[in-house]
Amino acid sequence: MDKTNISELFGSLVFDDREMRARLSEEVYASLKKTIDENVKLDENVADAVAEEMKNWAIEHGATHYTHWFQPLTGVTAEKHDSFIEPTADGGVVMEFSGKELIKGEPDASSFPSGGLRATFEARGYTAWDPTSFAFIKDHTLCIPTAFCSYSGEALDKKTPLLRSMQAINRQAMRILKLFGTEAKYVKTSVGAEQEYFLVDKQVFARRPDLKYTGRTLFGAMPPKGQEMDDHYFGVIKPRVAEFMEDLNQELWKLGILAKTEHNEVAPAQHELAPIYSTTNIATDSNQLTMEIMKKVAAKHGMECLLHEKPFAGVNGSGKHNNWSIATDTGINLLSPGETPYENAQFLLFLCAVIQAVDDYQDLLRLSVATAGNDHRLGANEAPPAIISVFLGEELTGILEAIKNDTSYQGKEEVKMKLGVHALPRFSRDTTDRNRTSPFAFTGNKFEFRSLGSSNSIACCNIMLNSAVAESLRQYADELEQAEDFQTALHDLIRRVITDHQRILFDGNGYGEEWIKEATEVRGLSNLRTTADAMPRLLDEKNKEMLIRHKVFTESEIHSRCEIMLENYVKTVNIEGLTMVDMVRKNYLPAMERYIFRLAQTTSLMREVSPNIKVNYEVSTMERLSELTDSILEAVEALEKALATFKTFENVFESSEFVRDDMLPAMDTLRKFVDEAEMLTSQRDWPFPSYGQLLFSVN
Ligand code: ADP
Ligand code: MG
Repeated sequence: MDKTNISELFGSLVFDDREMRARLSEEVYASLKKTIDENVKLDENVADAVAEEMKNWAIEHGATHYTHWFQPLTGVTAEKHDSFIEPTADGGVVMEFSGKELIKGEPDASSFPSGGLRATFEARGYTAWDPTSFAFIKDHTLCIPTAFCSYSGEALDKKTPLLRSMQAINRQAMRILKLFGTEAKYVKTSVGAEQEYFLVDKQVFARRPDLKYTGRTLFGAMPPKGQEMDDHYFGVIKPRVAEFMEDLNQELWKLGILAKTEHNEVAPAQHELAPIYSTTNIATDSNQLTMEIMKKVAAKHGMECLLHEKPFAGVNGSGKHNNWSIATDTGINLLSPGETPYENAQFLLFLCAVIQAVDDYQDLLRLSVATAGNDHRLGANEAPPAIISVFLGEELTGILEAIKNDTSYQGKEEVKMKLGVHALPRFSRDTTDRNRTSPFAFTGNKFEFRSLGSSNSIACCNIMLNSAVAESLRQYADELEQAEDFQTALHDLIRRVITDHQRILFDGNGYGEEWIKEATEVRGLSNLRTTADAMPRLLDEKNKEMLIRHKVFTESEIHSRCEIMLENYVKTVNIEGLTMVDMVRKNYLPAMERYIFRLAQTTSLMREVSPNIKVNYEVSTMERLSELTDSILEAVEALEKALATFKTFENVFESSEFVRDDMLPAMDTLRKFVDEAEMLTSQRDWPFPSYGQLLFSVN
């Protein structure tokens, strides 16, 4: 690979704007561009012309097949490959690809989860081209980003509601911009998703069935060295990892993904990749691809990339940071404080819209990141708590306080705040934005939502965020459009929002016990600790009403999603439980027995040699190990019973509560005994690689 020519490499496998402009006729390009930017319906002739050029480009780049690439509710991407070949009368083939094939596909989709939206007898959903996200080539296949719907038009994927939510926020934000006289054709939200992951050696990985089946270790005593020395964070990158990162960057760049920074993270073997931000739906597609390519490139380098939120108990888990902002087509970032009083007032109103959205829809944000895996991180003093709050930093908080109380702002210079008359005092980007304990932090010109798990699709939280902010903006537009005096109405509105939603603002330590107490008991914020607690809130009237009002979901889509997400939760834990039983019965108990047998043999031999030998170590270890085998037996039987009970539930709401209250605690108990046994048993007899061997497997 010629490293000097990165600008040529970048996007070389993407049918991007450069390719479109170069290859399409002027009219076709203009018409397509209008569809992309302004969401205007696509002309059929245009689709044919685009398909033809897309196919020619793809074939030139080695593609033989095409696929509609989509994001079903499983959370991973799906594809079904068709070749371009069409038979000709003389027994040969030609490479064909029509506008129809570009626009619409019909995968046999009966095995994707639909939560009852689609009876299996009408299995065929359809995929529809999303021209706002560029097509690309992966494994000799032209991948066309698509939305996935049922024949009755219900969304069966994550992209469709995301695109709808972008339209919703666009609609409402444009009403506000009009009131300020800000010229723009449209607004779009943008996202930069920072991705954390672990790398372990493939051979060591292959010897851990729990990692293979569930993505996380279900057993494992703590290694003597973990992350306590803080020597891994931003540390020197090991050569093998550096080679992986270089390769990964190249693969991502070819796909037009703006991989920008990479560094070691807190835990041994943990790393992070951050891209440059892009439009939300493109950022979502890119993040899905990034996760996929990470796994592929790791395999090429003899490693396994772990994207699970908590691969190792007791070691820092992996998250994802969703940096979010909203900007006009003219390039104004609406979350960036402006130069003039007017721009500032506009900024403050959008800031308020986000604050109110997070307060009003805390539960939606929380549930948008809820999975069995992420439940292990949130609130465990390594990631934000399950309680959602907003961090603004000292200076911006001071400014809002001054507006609320109609007092002077005592910043660097004293300014009496009157909106629309005075410029905002210049405030610096708060250095305390390194307050990692806040789930939702303002970082100068964007918000950073930090509660996402590393394997989450970022579509989910952005659907909720876009919709909730659209709702705040709708309320503001309704009010301000009726106002007799815009200035006064605006000032009153902003003051009122700050007062009403102050409870969601919190700059302190989110990890502290005191915060949980204050948040829940004094401020009345919700603390939805697990997926079983959070997900059913999707069905709360206020949430349904908002999402339906902005046409992001239909009522039946909401119900189906809630069920699918809960099913995903209970199935995940069920597989974990079954894996534990399997490992305990087939490997751990027999291994302990083997070691006890060796100890017993040794003991009697030693005693034969000399009756004076004390055999303290042998006897005490045997005694404790033998007690532990009994405890493990009891615990595994309890877990087996729970797994049997689990099968009897017909209702996923009930089974998810059972998983939370019975199954997970039974798994914890079992693990505790096995981990203790690991510390007492010779490594030679222990059946699986230890935490130390896993975490320090890549050199
Ligand atoms: P920090 O130092 O706070 O982590 P960075 O500048 O490194 O901030 O940005 C972190 C992430 O936020 C990057 O992915 C970056 O592209 C993204 N980002 C920056 N500006 C915006 C924006 N306006 N909208 C969305 N994401 C943004
Ligand atoms: Mg960050």
